[in-house]
Amino acid sequence: MKIAVFSSKPYDRAHLSAVNQDQHQMTFFEPHLDEQTAILAQGFDVVCCFVNDTLSAPVIRTLADHRVQMIALRCAGFNNVDLVQADASGILVARVPEYSPYAVAEHAVALALSLNRNLHRAHNRVRENDYSLHGLLGFDMHGKTVGVIGTGKIGLAFCNILLGFGCRVNCYDPCPNPELEKTAATYVPLEQIWTDSDIISLHCPLLATTRHIINSNSIHQMKPGLMLINTSRGALIDTRAVIDALKMGHIGYLGLDVYEEEAELFFEDNSDEILHDDMLARLQTFKNVLITGHQAFFTQEALTAIAEITLRNINGLANNDPAAIYQVKQ
Ligand code: NAD
Repeated sequence: MKIAVFSSKPYDRAHLSAVNQDQHQMTFFEPHLDEQTAILAQGFDVVCCFVNDTLSAPVIRTLADHRVQMIALRCAGFNNVDLVQADASGILVARVPEYSPYAVAEHAVALALSLNRNLHRAHNRVRENDYSLHGLLGFDMHGKTVGVIGTGKIGLAFCNILLGFGCRVNCYDPCPNPELEKTAATYVPLEQIWTDSDIISLHCPLLATTRHIINSNSIHQMKPGLMLINTSRGALIDTRAVIDALKMGHIGYLGLDVYEEEAELFFEDNSDEILHDDMLARLQTFKNVLITGHQAFFTQEALTAIAEITLRNINGLANNDPAAIYQVKQ
């Protein structure tokens, strides 16, 4: 198979090449796949894409014109793919449904702990020879109520860590996970997540029903001073509403690994550029906001698993073995 790997970074090249062992011919392109770059897919059987590639209907039609047979996503989420067009164009869409739920769950916990104990501020302070403690006061995680929205693989791993801390864990998911029901976590109505939680963490996919699930109405029902963590997808949060709530002190802490408008910024070094995104710039002014650039998945174990499952999907196409492909259907 000839594979065009888009949005590729040195770490993608290293992990995919190590697993591929020259079985398939891989070409690594740094740019995102979008309407301008889709032409690069000419002559390839597979395009291998990541979270911020654009797989809209026009892009997929161009891929079909170039006889691309598979979109092999290197991620779990597929909200960036027009599945209706992929189906109409006869292009298979494959994903990596699970690589390391622990990677993302542990990063969500890292954000929560850093915000709580102000580690981001303390680190800068100590480097300035300032060992004062004012402004660094935290709270015990033990005994706090954590609301978890989405209890699939990552949500479950997150709940298990928080249960270990002695937190009370309330969850909401329209499809309860039997594994979670074996734990001390409890399913509650969504309204109770809003009203009872000291910390809310988002682990559901971005769907029409979950877009802006955090909005002025849901924020209004939340406890003043709560902590909100989003390692899932940026558009789960109405950023403008969250900024208003931060300005009023209603949201006490915000930890983000994903951002609604991240596509043009994240995964790149823009340090020499002017930041034109005024909402992201405003978020960065709050001392109680901690933002990472979509790195929750970024562990050795996860990158190896992503490469292995991506190659498994591509081998399924090469060997005409649909059962070996983690296919995404409409
Ligand atoms: P999963 O499919 O195992 O679980 C998702 C859960 O969300 C399911 O149980 C589903 O029933 C539930 N859900 C669906 N609609 C819901 C709703 N309206 N309210 C509450 N729950 C709802 O997925 P996962 O592997 O646990 O991943 C969760 C999300 O994490 C992914 O969709 C992706 O957006 C995100 N993610 C982020 C990173 C990162 O690096 N930041 C990495 C991987 C995944």
